Amino acid sequence: MDADYMILDEVIMNRRFALRSGNLIPDRLEKSPNITECDSLSKHLQIHYAPQDETVLPFIRASLSEAYNVVKSWFGMQDDLPIALWMAPEENDLQYMVCIPCAGSYFFAPGKRDGMSVITFVSPLSCQINKDKIRMTSLLAHEISHHVIQDISNASVDSTTRKENMDVPMWLEEGLCQYLQCEVQPSFDKKLTDNMSAISEKRDLEDLWNDLTCRDNPDATDAAYVQAYCAVKWLVQEKGKAEILRLLSSNRDHTTDWKALTKLANSIQKKDCARSMVS
Ligand SMILES: [Zn+2]
Repeated sequence: MDADYMILDEVIMNRRFALRSGNLIPDRLEKSPNITECDSLSKHLQIHYAPQDETVLPFIRASLSEAYNVVKSWFGMQDDLPIALWMAPEENDLQYMVCIPCAGSYFFAPGKRDGMSVITFVSPLSCQINKDKIRMTSLLAHEISHHVIQDISNASVDSTTRKENMDVPMWLEEGLCQYLQCEVQPSFDKKLTDNMSAISEKRDLEDLWNDLTCRDNPDATDAAYVQAYCAVKWLVQEKGKAEILRLLSSNRDHTTDWKALTKLANSIQKKDCARSMVS
């Protein structure tokens, strides 16, 4: 191992985790000291990595280019959005960067640094599941979509206050990110749709306006994401992509009636649910 490699011991990690209280993720975000290299694919796409991960660069480059192109084309982006991947050499480095004691399989779009929208994840060399090319590309598409939605709508990075401020609902944002994930990985659509019919008690979309994560109940979190996806899939079919993009950009001057849209999407979801119960 490199002589400059920094062991992220318990003291360092606990100091980072302590920042969770009182700091939003974009404010506490910090690159791991072990990520010292940078590979630029273009002016707007960068991969920051540790020296030991050099060999996976071609794999990550290919995934990033594909994911970026899918998202750029779906959202009809005129200008490029600068994206920087921060690839953690180990699970600890990922936890260090976002200050969350999470699994190594997690991907985040935690905020911006130096004018670049940052995405964090663990290198496929130390996280086995990240070796799957389609999974890698689809999750990068998911996280890039978060940044693009933020860019179009100027939504608050604090998702816990979205409802009170009539800001972009998280069910819509997470649903759209998963929709883009399915554009890369069509089998994910079938998985989500099948899971939807297995949810016995559907939640009100109004309750999924803020953060979808239920800290102590991973099943409830999964179900919330599935509901969010199905609501967005219905929206894209019924209202069309152009209308969704219009709603997102009019969020900038607070003229989008998210409450009405949430109510509508909710009534459709409840109706579909009733229909599937009688059929
Ligand atoms: Zn997401």
